[in-house]
Amino acid sequence: MIDTPLDEIPKINASLHATFATRKTFPLAWRQHQLLQIARMLQENHKAFADAIYADLGKPAFEVYMTELNLMIDRAIISAKRLPEWAAVKNLENHPDLPAHQKAWKPRVAPTPKGAALVISPWNYPLILSIQGTIGAIAAGCTLCLKLSEVTFNYAGLLQDLIPKYLDQDAVKVVCGSVPEITKVLEQKWDHIFYTGNGTVARIIAAAAAKHLTPLTLELGGKSPVIIDPEFDMELAARRVLWGKINNCGQVCVSPDYALVTPSSTAAFAENLKKACASFYPNGSLKSDSYTRMINMQHFNRIKSLLERTQGKVLMGGGMDEKERRIEPTVVLVKPGDVLLESETFGPILTLLEVEDMRAACEYISAQFVLCLPFRQSDLDPSRSDHPLVLYLFTQNEQLQQDVRKLTMSGNLIFNDTFMQMDVKVLPFGGVGESGYGRQVLENTFNCFTYERTTLEIPVDVEDKIHLRYPPYTAHAFEVECAPTLNVQIPESSPEGGLVA
Ligand code: NAD
Repeated sequence: MIDTPLDEIPKINASLHATFATRKTFPLAWRQHQLLQIARMLQENHKAFADAIYADLGKPAFEVYMTELNLMIDRAIISAKRLPEWAAVKNLENHPDLPAHQKAWKPRVAPTPKGAALVISPWNYPLILSIQGTIGAIAAGCTLCLKLSEVTFNYAGLLQDLIPKYLDQDAVKVVCGSVPEITKVLEQKWDHIFYTGNGTVARIIAAAAAKHLTPLTLELGGKSPVIIDPEFDMELAARRVLWGKINNCGQVCVSPDYALVTPSSTAAFAENLKKACASFYPNGSLKSDSYTRMINMQHFNRIKSLLERTQGKVLMGGGMDEKERRIEPTVVLVKPGDVLLESETFGPILTLLEVEDMRAACEYISAQFVLCLPFRQSDLDPSRSDHPLVLYLFTQNEQLQQDVRKLTMSGNLIFNDTFMQMDVKVLPFGGVGESGYGRQVLENTFNCFTYERTTLEIPVDVEDKIHLRYPPYTAHAFEVECAPTLNVQIPESSPEGGLVA
């Protein structure tokens, strides 16, 4: 990876605005070709991508293909094929709320590119989190500055080399570097910023965007809880939760962070986690080539320090190999207030917290949020607030599903498995509150980079129908234009029945 010279950055910004102004990125054919070039770039260089990500993260090639590279080839192709539909002008002439006389005014909505976009990506899923935004920006018809994470420098170097070979260099530029470079990037005016990363940096990005009134998509993280119904099959729950946890060594925004279990099921759940771990790693996880390492020593030491400071009981794992930056999948049973419940773990620790029953589990999760529910205020942990990106619930009890849906808030609510929402490309993905805002994947990413430009074509021969709007205002004009709504019959309603038919 070569850091982009600081004085190049304003020039990159200016050139991307200039290219946009030529409308070169508008034709659907241009966009479709660029999208398919992304697919070609990934396919023709798949081994180099897997090797670079292995060099950065020690991520097994299988995980790179399954959770990053193949998805992006697939989504680039789908985007190219579906683009004409997404970009089509929507005719609202037959909209049920349109008064009959406005039909002739030709109300239309055109998804229109916002301009020069900035995508800022993190290190933990370097490929998917840089390419997904790139696909959305190009599909939308924007020009793009892609700021890659400096943490995964092998991956960044590869993309820095490949993007100019595959994509239109007038329209897509890569910027590499750390805080000085990104600070310079953020001084420039962009027409949309799509940021994935942590909430602290998100505030810096949002403040910089505010100076230019730039709209934002913020894809953030947080502590994603798991609730385990004691009636659920413990063996299945343990295997599925552990699989979500070990993926990328827990360095995932949707990683199950902590599990709420009832005292009656703790032992069985923990035993089954051990059983699952033994079956995933028969020769131990520390030497397994099916297990990722911690990205760098800073993150290794962060997890090590958490394990040193917890007052909880280690029920599984805890071993580490500092030289290799590897930490075993680890399960710790804690009490409220433990350091492991403070902030997003982003590592291979699954924290267990016992709750009296399922109602108490909902109350615990909701107590972290600003919801007006009758919680035990004493359980409120002031260091944590707001809504998680994902809430996982293992239950086949429909009433419990409904209760959890009603009593909690989260970006995604997933029943009986972990992580699989990332594979369902028709679901909008994103957070709420502290876990971010905006939605992505396919058409939803396209929507981030476009705005709905509305058009009307008022016929020239309707003056006789609209003349009452012109001054001088008269009592007659008021009677015709304003009085009817003031006298309209408002439908009956009640808090219990809503709109009474
Ligand atoms: P990171 O350190 O790679 O940072 C992300 C980006 O922010 C990088 O491009 C980096 O250059 C930039 N950056 C860093 N410091 C900056 C500063 N001071 N000013 C401006 N920009 C700066 O990645 P990270 O933030 O450690 O990523 C992990 C976090 O991202 C976790 O919280 C995780 O939950 C979240 N995440 C969310 C999603 C999602 O889709 N919701 C996906 C992956 C990760």
